[in-house]
Amino acid sequence: MSISLKVRACIERSSWIRKMFEEGAQLRAIHGDENVFDFTLGNPSVEPPEALRLELARLAAAPLPGMHRYMNNAGYEETRAAVAAVVSEKSPQPLGAEHVIMTCGAGGALNVALKTVLNPGEEVIILTPYFVEYKFYVDNHGGVTREVWTDRETFQLDIPAIEKAITPNTRALLLNSPNNPTGVVYPAASLKALGEMLARKEQELERTIFVISDEPYARLSYDVEVPGIFRYVRNAVIATSHSKDLALPGERIGYLAVNPALEDVKLFLEGAIFCNRVLGFVNAPALMQRLVAGLQRISVDVEEYRAKRDLLYDNLTALGFSMVKPQGGFYLFPKSPLADDLAFVRLAQKHNILLVPGTGFGAPGFFRIAYCIDTAIIQRSLPAWEKVAKEAGL
Ligand code: PLP
Repeated sequence: MSISLKVRACIERSSWIRKMFEEGAQLRAIHGDENVFDFTLGNPSVEPPEALRLELARLAAAPLPGMHRYMNNAGYEETRAAVAAVVSEKSPQPLGAEHVIMTCGAGGALNVALKTVLNPGEEVIILTPYFVEYKFYVDNHGGVTREVWTDRETFQLDIPAIEKAITPNTRALLLNSPNNPTGVVYPAASLKALGEMLARKEQELERTIFVISDEPYARLSYDVEVPGIFRYVRNAVIATSHSKDLALPGERIGYLAVNPALEDVKLFLEGAIFCNRVLGFVNAPALMQRLVAGLQRISVDVEEYRAKRDLLYDNLTALGFSMVKPQGGFYLFPKSPLADDLAFVRLAQKHNILLVPGTGFGAPGFFRIAYCIDTAIIQRSLPAWEKVAKEAGL
């Protein structure tokens, strides 16, 4: 076998995702695209805002000299300053351009942050249910993940459980709010309590524990404002992107924003810029940096996602499904009516509804619906959901 044993094992562990994808393609070939209800992927169905197209046209018509060349590994000063101004609105200390590093999406930002802080074998706490890639990202940089469940009914932070999981070897905690897969937003009171607990543990253990706040859904929230993490946690960094709020996941544009109050902030920034370079990202895509600089206060239409959420939430709860009503993002994470979530996903598949089992997020007994798809497809799927509910005994 020519490839690494580790990578081979990773592929095998995540092979069910590929399998679902292949089976979905088969269903489409048999029944036609319009009769398969694919709720598996977090790929935005909406198009980027018109302002992006206009800005792209403007740049194409009047290109700037050197606009495709290498740059500072942190990115363009102008873009970083624009990001800093917006992040500062939710930070007790204002950020300058120097506190922002443009990255290849949130995935890039997370890998940069993890590589910057982790010594071999150090622990990173992830909260169950978690984004599938976290374990791989932590492992990329020699870290070890420790899974801590959120509250099993509300999916809110269980701070005593997080505290219990902290050891003299803990280096970081990964937070994600609004959350994929649950749609939950952590309120300010929880973040405050978390910040206080972490400060106490840092003192007790005489070590820095970083919060890496993964926030690609921060501008997709309903009814609530997503609180700024820097207000509550000193050693925090934000890893985020415009994959969801500007519907640009294929363009790989995001950033790492660092709390100006972070311990050894200059050293962290120097380290992170180095990591952005040597991870092979070098810098975030130049053209995209130019484009998003002027779009920091623009998002896709959140009301469109709210309407999809309400359509599914109202119909599925009426059918007897039980779930937390999401306050952000574009996912629902209902309880599986069958104890075995994989069996339930199979049952749904028989009715051409494609879902991801909770097991994939470390949470057996649940399933995930990504509702970032056309409303017409959601509407057409409702009779199939009714059949699934009946067959599952609801
Ligand atoms: N973090 C979470 C929670 C996500 O759901 C995603 C993408 O779905 C990412 C990170 C990665 O986002 P990006 O496309 O910006 O790398």
